[in-house]
Amino acid sequence: MKRLLALTAAAFLALPLTPATASPAGTPGAPSAGDPYFPGQGNGGYDTRHYDLTLDYDPASGRLTGRAAISAQATQALSRFNLDLADTLTVRSVTVDGRPASFAQSGSELVVTPARTLHDRRGFSVVVRYDGTPAHVLDPDGSMDGWIRTADGVYNANEPQGAITWYPGNHHMTDKATYRFTVTVPADRVAVANGDLVRRTSKGGRTTYGWNAREPMASYLATVSIGTFDLTDRRVGRYRVTTAVDPQARGDATGFAERHPPVLDYFSELFGRYPYSSTGGIVDHAPEVGYALETQTRPLYPRVPSESLLAHELAHQWFGDSVTPTLWRDIWLNEGFATYAEWLWADKLGTRTVQAAFDEAYARPADDEFWQTPTADPGGPENLFHDPVYDRGAMTLHALRGATGDDAFFAILRAWAREHRYGNADTAAFIALAERVSGKDLGALFDAWLFKPGKPAQ
Ligand SMILES: [Zn+2]
Repeated sequence: MKRLLALTAAAFLALPLTPATASPAGTPGAPSAGDPYFPGQGNGGYDTRHYDLTLDYDPASGRLTGRAAISAQATQALSRFNLDLADTLTVRSVTVDGRPASFAQSGSELVVTPARTLHDRRGFSVVVRYDGTPAHVLDPDGSMDGWIRTADGVYNANEPQGAITWYPGNHHMTDKATYRFTVTVPADRVAVANGDLVRRTSKGGRTTYGWNAREPMASYLATVSIGTFDLTDRRVGRYRVTTAVDPQARGDATGFAERHPPVLDYFSELFGRYPYSSTGGIVDHAPEVGYALETQTRPLYPRVPSESLLAHELAHQWFGDSVTPTLWRDIWLNEGFATYAEWLWADKLGTRTVQAAFDEAYARPADDEFWQTPTADPGGPENLFHDPVYDRGAMTLHALRGATGDDAFFAILRAWAREHRYGNADTAAFIALAERVSGKDLGALFDAWLFKPGKPAQ
């Protein structure tokens, strides 16, 4: 059901001045990016380039006031386009290129009709003012996603669909953009986002934090997490490490910042240079959430991470964050790689060899349900984060390593990270790259490990 079209008074005044004949006819942008796992996600007709989000949040009432300024480029002549935003938030006004635009909210679609048709391949800017009390969503697998309230603020993890709960955007991972966050919270709270801390100013009992995420980011990797955090921001080794730790986790978090450079140095050797201008992590106290997320530059943890979880989320900065799949079905390109990186880090630490990790995972009996899910097609959004995606994905990489040898295998991983840096790529592109770099026909190996149900032979 659609809500009534909301036209501002200013839009009424502007409309007669901009007859349709002033611009070539456009057509509406698609209301979806066409991902079968989440058909409502994303939109067509434009590419976003930059989000400038100005947010004001009151943790006591849960009230959010937001202004999203989005720079985009049309990919067709556009008479109308959609943004994704949950209707728990109320849009107050929309302008396109400074002119009031008409808009309507329907479910998680915000339909914007600019006063003038937007020309193909031209840049345009959208400003959305909105407010409300954000509510997290429940994913098909039952987990909380999005703006998740905690005792002292917000645990903001957005994979796969939570971004709609707090800002309007083109919320499919194929449309990456840079971000600037300006977030105002009570002075006894901290607001942590992605990228570099560029501002911290206080006035009248409120503090404003500015964060600059300079490298392109998929919206499921954005975060604005809020709490009574201890915030540190300093150079450790070759990295700018910014950490935020909930006081309840303080005791276990000794040396948390210092734990990052050794992992990042090792992964840089194996995968190529670290793709971002800063790193670090957000350690919240959120036992009710129960999962960590590789939020770009700065993973989010519900407690102080173990060494393997730290390695997992930092490996995602290359695999998942910098190189992002094109469809959710290809999620093994994130999780299989990050799990394999856990194995590599444990091997480096001398805790367990990669081969022992493989053997342990492979030891599942052939009739175990585990083997019925092909790695590259988990079957539906409810299975996105199930074991086969992680463990069978990692085993796939180890099988590839066995077939190509170490030199070619790590050359493949580095080429994958380099050739698709800040972009998107799918399973077919990975197979093509592996065959090109190794010079081998790997069809049978990938067929058995990625596409067919059943336990692959070793
Ligand atoms: Zn992961």
